[in-house]
Amino acid sequence: MLIPYEEFARRADQVRAEIAEACRRAGRPAADVELMAVTKTHPPEAAGYAARYGLRAVGENRVQEAAEKRPQCPAPIAWELIGHLQSNKAKLAVAHFDRVQSIDSEKLLDHLDRAAAAQGKVLPVLLQINAGNDPAKFGAEPADAERLLAGALTRKNLRVDGLMTIAPLSSDPAVAQRTFANLRALRDQLSAQQGIPLRELSMGMSGDFADAIAAGSTLVRVGTALFGAR
Ligand SMILES: *Cc1c(COP(=O)(O)O)cnc(C)c1O
Repeated sequence: MLIPYEEFARRADQVRAEIAEACRRAGRPAADVELMAVTKTHPPEAAGYAARYGLRAVGENRVQEAAEKRPQCPAPIAWELIGHLQSNKAKLAVAHFDRVQSIDSEKLLDHLDRAAAAQGKVLPVLLQINAGNDPAKFGAEPADAERLLAGALTRKNLRVDGLMTIAPLSSDPAVAQRTFANLRALRDQLSAQQGIPLRELSMGMSGDFADAIAAGSTLVRVGTALFGAR
């Protein structure tokens, strides 16, 4: 039940206009913020739509689902894992994803680094931080981020691009705003400590990307606003 491409393109134009407006209000160039299409639960053609529209990457939250869909969608687009990854699926994740945004433990770092070495790759990653202190969400605790980053930087077959977070579900926009501000502050602190850019701040989804952009997001992960309700 994928919407027609024309409707997708119309929705994507709208989302891009809202991203540009949020950037303008924040005094940031619109080119600072990338739109990633979240294609989970949608058929492989959804990734084809994103490629045809000119997006760089799609996000998927399950390894198995992406492993099945990706071969059916030969379009030139990057696939990124945005959902929880179990260590025993590290090999499969390295084989099918161009970047993993959901690094939340030393154990996972170990498994991914070894799988990437075995497959002759350097895997770009983001550290997922539970910046909203949400008991229902995965992600490393902010207090553990420094150690996790230090560990990640020692792995030869991983490249750390930045941080990712998911705001807790809440009807109060202040909850997401606080979460995004926390991630931004943590990034700035870690970046200064380690002397590395940690450029990517993956934060913001359909319902909260404008607030995420105000707080410094460089990559918004949007599903519903592009493809409709899942
Ligand atoms: C599903 C999902 C999204 C997209 O959510 P929408 O509300 O549909 O835009 C973004 N990030 C993650 C981690 C997701 O699992």
